[in-house]
Amino acid sequence: MGTSSEVSKLHFLLFPFMAHGHMIPTLDMAKLFATKGAKSTILTTPLNSKLFFEKPIKSFNQENPGLEDISIEILNFPCTELGLPEGCENSDFIFSSPDLAKGDLSQKFLLAMKYFEEPLEKVLETTKPDCLVGNMFFPWATKVAEKFGVPRLVFHGTGCFSICASHCIRLHKPYENVASSSELFVIPDLPGDVVITEEQVIEKEEESVMGKFMKGIRESERESFGVLVNSFYELEPDYSDFLKRFVAKRAWLIGPLSLGNRKFEEKAGRGKKASIDEHECLKWLDSKKCESVVYLSFGTMSSFNNEQLIEIAAGLEMSGHDFVWVVNKNGSQGEKEEWLPEGFEEKTKGKGLIIRGWAPQVLILDHQALGGFVTHCGWNSLLEGVAAGLPMVTWPVGAEQFYNEKLVTQVLKTGVSVGVKKLMQVVGDFVSREKVERAVKEVMVGEERRKRAKEFAEMAKNAVKEGGSSEIELNRLMEELKLVKL
Ligand code: UDP
Repeated sequence: MGTSSEVSKLHFLLFPFMAHGHMIPTLDMAKLFATKGAKSTILTTPLNSKLFFEKPIKSFNQENPGLEDISIEILNFPCTELGLPEGCENSDFIFSSPDLAKGDLSQKFLLAMKYFEEPLEKVLETTKPDCLVGNMFFPWATKVAEKFGVPRLVFHGTGCFSICASHCIRLHKPYENVASSSELFVIPDLPGDVVITEEQVIEKEEESVMGKFMKGIRESERESFGVLVNSFYELEPDYSDFLKRFVAKRAWLIGPLSLGNRKFEEKAGRGKKASIDEHECLKWLDSKKCESVVYLSFGTMSSFNNEQLIEIAAGLEMSGHDFVWVVNKNGSQGEKEEWLPEGFEEKTKGKGLIIRGWAPQVLILDHQALGGFVTHCGWNSLLEGVAAGLPMVTWPVGAEQFYNEKLVTQVLKTGVSVGVKKLMQVVGDFVSREKVERAVKEVMVGEERRKRAKEFAEMAKNAVKEGGSSEIELNRLMEELKLVKL
């Protein structure tokens, strides 16, 4: 056994899924662990290390000499041997390539993660961490960790509400008792009488390849040490309790993780390099009135077609509100932009800012000029919007985003739905300009909604402070892990 200080010092091995929505909170988590005196090693591939981790980790270690270092351990990922295109080390590769069959390839990419099983064994054997935080998409990781006596925590990347809603739907299959796929039903057992339709849920195909994969995920989760959630108790108390009682063996809510980024550079440097000068962007926002600008972003995986983008542009113009709109329309740069109505930028000059590519999202959301957030309801974005105190227009596209929408519109009551009917996974169900106009206008004027959104932001900030709910849960987790170590 080591000295008492070695024993009390924990070492986390963090293994994120290779997508922005997982890499970004993983880095935030490593920083959080460092502030608690724990060492973290992030396990990732060469390209992802360069894209996400090298620079910010170097700065973090240099600027915090008193804290435990964060380090990176590289694993190769032989894309072509696994039947993937060369360089396909991140789901962004799939979603930003216009000519790829995104649905098929993303499934193949997900299943290819199994490749890491053996390399992970070797890393665990040599590194001997005190805990493995492995992404949900690595169901085999629980067994591998067990072999070396390492407790495995599961990180879903989403909140308690969607994990619980999905659990209840899988268990009761309520969609089997509706007359049509667009008929609303109440999610059985789930607190709050939340309603949804069959065409918005993803759990229907249990016998498909993905259905079986998801089943494996749930089994591995039950056998794991517990679940780590990027959320905070006050945001979803009923669902946090439900998760701990009925779904996961144990769970710890330790977020919002994005709030650990306090410095300008940290906020500006999250994810990719921004496609706009951050200072210019803030200067533009500085020139706007308080709470007057609406921000639109649809995350890293949704890709709308030209017809939909034209509709968004027209709806925005009709709403009359100032806006910042992030369009990750890769592949069309330098070409004639057929996704913008003729003369749109001239007409909206001074009123609108279009960011083509990557936006410094947290910097923008935190600006006082922001008055509303049109979001695809990816969990990171949603929580960043909550932490910024913004009312939202919900525009879910795929994955668990429809559940996240219901949390915002039916439980928190801080959002307005744009009215998307069905889950489409990548491309998005069509929404007319009139719907965009209506939702943007509505979200910008609702005072009650705004007041509630600000209250949640206050709670979020308190949760991560000393003595706050997330801080307490993290302390508890670390104490438990220290006991296991002993
Ligand atoms: N993000 C960003 N700039 C962009 C687009 C996304 O900083 O232009 C960040 C955003 O702040 C969030 C993450 O990327 O932290 C996206 O995760 P989310 O869960 O919201 O959506 P996903 O892309 O996984 O669907």
